[in-house]
Amino acid sequence: MSSTEQRVTIDLFFDQARKGRLTGLKCDLGHITVPPRYSCRVCLSEKLQPIELSGRGEVVSFTEVHVKSKEFPLDVPYTLALVTLVEGGNLMGVLRGFQSVPKHGSKVLVKFEDPPNNREKWPRTFFDPL
Ligand SMILES: [Zn+2]
Repeated sequence: MSSTEQRVTIDLFFDQARKGRLTGLKCDLGHITVPPRYSCRVCLSEKLQPIELSGRGEVVSFTEVHVKSKEFPLDVPYTLALVTLVEGGNLMGVLRGFQSVPKHGSKVLVKFEDPPNNREKWPRTFFDPL
């Protein structure tokens, strides 16, 4: 895949994210890679096609962040989670909306939003409980 094709794919990812859709990449063997990369995260194939994903997944791991940064302008503390999507692939984002401590396997749905004072041109990834 050329760098031009990759840029188009990243642009597609963020264009779709702004519409509330999660786009992954699927290789010929069916592995899902998200967010976009040059090659499949499993087999390293560079033959990847965009695919719309459900945005549903399960919490694999999480940690609490206590240090605020310019690059990620959320009030602290917030919970950063690694989620395995139902179609495959892993995505990192901010976990919110849980009334109690989330568990490994807690079901979530991805949402893309611009936090206040977002300095980046792209929305950020959040996970809400399902
Ligand atoms: Zn693959």
